[in-house]
Amino acid sequence: MNMSDQRAVSPHVLIFPLPLQGPVNCMLKLAELLCLSKIQVTFLNTQQIQERLRINSAGADVYFKRYPNFRFETVPDGLPEDNPRTGDQIGHLLESMDAVAVPIFRGMVTSGGEYGPGSENQVTCIIADGIFTFAAGIAAEIGVPLLYFDTISPCGLWTYLCLPELIEAGEFPFKDDNLDEMIRNAPGMEGIIRRRDLPSFYRTNDVNDRIIQLVLKEDKHIPLAQGLIFNTFQELEAPILAQMLSVCPNIYAVGPLHAHLKTRLAAETCPGVQPTTSCNSIRREDSSCISWLDAQPSKSVIYVSIGSVAMITTDQLFEIWHGLVNSGSRFLWVRRPGSVTGLDPETTKEIPSELSLGTKERGYIVSWAPQEEVLAHPAIGGFLTHSGWNSTLESIVEGKPMICWPYFVDQQVNSRYVGEVWKLGLDMKDTCDRVVVEKMIREVMELRKNEFLQRADEMAKLAKASVSEGGSSYADLDRLILDIKFMKIPTTWK
Ligand code: UDP
Repeated sequence: MNMSDQRAVSPHVLIFPLPLQGPVNCMLKLAELLCLSKIQVTFLNTQQIQERLRINSAGADVYFKRYPNFRFETVPDGLPEDNPRTGDQIGHLLESMDAVAVPIFRGMVTSGGEYGPGSENQVTCIIADGIFTFAAGIAAEIGVPLLYFDTISPCGLWTYLCLPELIEAGEFPFKDDNLDEMIRNAPGMEGIIRRRDLPSFYRTNDVNDRIIQLVLKEDKHIPLAQGLIFNTFQELEAPILAQMLSVCPNIYAVGPLHAHLKTRLAAETCPGVQPTTSCNSIRREDSSCISWLDAQPSKSVIYVSIGSVAMITTDQLFEIWHGLVNSGSRFLWVRRPGSVTGLDPETTKEIPSELSLGTKERGYIVSWAPQEEVLAHPAIGGFLTHSGWNSTLESIVEGKPMICWPYFVDQQVNSRYVGEVWKLGLDMKDTCDRVVVEKMIREVMELRKNEFLQRADEMAKLAKASVSEGGSSYADLDRLILDIKFMKIPTTWK
């Protein structure tokens, strides 16, 4: 590059999320925060996600029209339209993205592309999901900084980053079936993490397992980024964030993003006026549950959801159902269509009468809920969750204790931290038995209610403080914005 060719190029970030509900939701929150700071943002969705956002989310595409410095772009994910894109399909999704979406993305940002070097809209920074290892090579090729935004928890990601050490020390693959054995070679997690608290896909004897190989590949690429963005806050995960500095010295902990966005939007609206935020849901929300909650006593309802990709078996569905009904608690349950494997439509005929009756008396079932609003509702007293990171943070911000029933990825780690480190609830991991479900609900909603609520309230205050002026996440976001605005960027290329 000839230095005399340098010209002022306005900061333009291209954000590329993993095409799943959780990552898309929180990357959109980050995108909006950057837009508020007058940074130009291009948000690259798969066509499938974009269509779902358009249909189901009261127009996230329309909402973002308020920002002239924001635009959506789309790429195909390469999967057949009827692929359910559920948790068990993630390997296929990634392979298909590599084959179909990545070449198009590459064409967009490299020389000659609409956002390539020298073009009017050239990208000056790429923010990509941490699992997108291809982004490192492409960013290096066009000479723009890459920031990886891993939307899973830092404590979860840390167990990925420790995998080479676990292999070298002979801790992985596990030598026997004892899942209660403590893990010794994950720095900062000594005395906390057992084998069963590692991501569920670590329960394999095969180092060449496809997902294990993906994790190892991600481990090699994460340090290639110029910075790491996390949806967390220092007060929650300081010890892990400190460990993470050994991988990348430039870390931005800017979460909880949904609360952060509300703070910054509120600063832009008239005092006392609640800012409107975008609904980034890719499923149609059933708001009737809010009217139902309005009629329930304070902190009397347990909210139940396994998020957007987790699956359960028919047996597990019935164990949870019996546990809920037998606990005597009121409950609001999200039963996502297609989330139960082997569910025979005829099964509805076989629902035991005590379940139908208990549900009619004390329960409410929806196929998808406005979750942030639900968790903020005064009637909610607890959350039976799959421990997805967004759900965990949303619960923390609203001060709601959790019962954790993790499914995969970072969820096994998150649930351990909720139970053992943050003491915000109970970890039901690896059990799905009606007696245990009932016992845990009684513990969180009755017997130890005050203890958990007090602890959750303290953490909620810390979360809110972190995203307020003077808070740790607020400061990190300001630093991120400045860094994006003043990053040394290449301009024209010869
Ligand atoms: N969610 C929602 N309505 C529901 C269930 C979930 O809006 O009925 C949202 C929830 O608020 C969260 C996201 O879906 O932002 C789920 O993300 P998470 O990381 O918790 O889990 P994932 O779905 O990625 O496993």
